[in-house]
Amino acid sequence: AREADWRRATELIRSAGTVALACHVSPDGDALGSMLGLGLALARTGKKVVASFGDRVFAVPRLLRFLPGQSLLVEPSAYPAEPDLMITLDASTMERLGLLAPHAGKAGELVVIDHHVSNTRFGTVHLVDPGAASTTMVVDELVNRLGLPIDREVATCLYAGLVTDTGSFRHSITTPAAHAMAGRLLATGLRPEEIARELWDRSPFAYLRVLGTALGRATLEPDAVGGLGLVWTYVTRADRAAEGLPYDEVEGMIDVVRRVDEAEVAVVLKEDDEGGWNVSTRSKGAVDVARACAALGGGGHSRAAGFSSALSVADTMAALRPLLAPEGSRS
Ligand code: 5GP
Ligand code: MN
Ligand code: MN
Repeated sequence: AREADWRRATELIRSAGTVALACHVSPDGDALGSMLGLGLALARTGKKVVASFGDRVFAVPRLLRFLPGQSLLVEPSAYPAEPDLMITLDASTMERLGLLAPHAGKAGELVVIDHHVSNTRFGTVHLVDPGAASTTMVVDELVNRLGLPIDREVATCLYAGLVTDTGSFRHSITTPAAHAMAGRLLATGLRPEEIARELWDRSPFAYLRVLGTALGRATLEPDAVGGLGLVWTYVTRADRAAEGLPYDEVEGMIDVVRRVDEAEVAVVLKEDDEGGWNVSTRSKGAVDVARACAALGGGGHSRAAGFSSALSVADTMAALRPLLAPEGSRS
């Protein structure tokens, strides 16, 4: 981000009485962690803070309910229609704000905090750092520039975003700065083992049954991706209904599927309760899945991206497959 934007953002925040925060729909650990971490830090200075995300059915995913600061959350229907100062977090486009996009359009000032390369630079002030491993890394710098303390609760939120987007420091985006931030956050006394367990290492038993169904129909196409492998599967709402499993429990299924050695690209299609499909894609590096997903109306990062589809599983895969050519092999 440019120095002028940092200055403008800190001025706007310092002089604001009320700050309205919003993160992308279907929030992940980075979206909610960056929003609640910033929200808590600001609320402690006496500012009024409201935070939300624009899903039609408003519910915090089960695995993110441990994050501190949930009392800052309001439903989109209770969100200010024309906020003086609105701040978006981890959203690369205005559309990713869902129901809150019109509010952003009417905000007096719109500060955009993000780390997606694909960020469209909507808004009036841009704290966008594509080199940051997580949006919480950008928030960490902002909170420090504001001179606000990072206590254990704020740190828990920021750490959750950091470990979510680095895949627990496994992804290529894991920089020295990411580890340095983790070190500072750990010094506040947060519990990394509890955060990891809440985020990844617990599920209802029904998840095992639905996972078994989805893995049982996984397909390996050894040459589908310009001579490299594609592994993919899907999970329907009927699969989940049979076991009483809510949608958000299957969000992370891609992390099981992407481990397949024979595949460069992994895809999991997840049917939501309304019959729409959310598609998760992962690449090991040879294929830019963000570009493929962007062509289908979605987006994300080069190695982790997604999109929504109203088509059938077969038609969605037929649309996606030709977009998965490795870099440099495009004709
Ligand atoms: P996931 O597969 O974990 O849901 O998403 C992986 C990455 O792709 C995340 O960075 C997420 O923000 C992005 N992503 C997922 N779905 C969409 C979508 O529908 N639109 C856009 N723009 N990005 C998405
Ligand atoms: Mn995100
Ligand atoms: Mn992120």
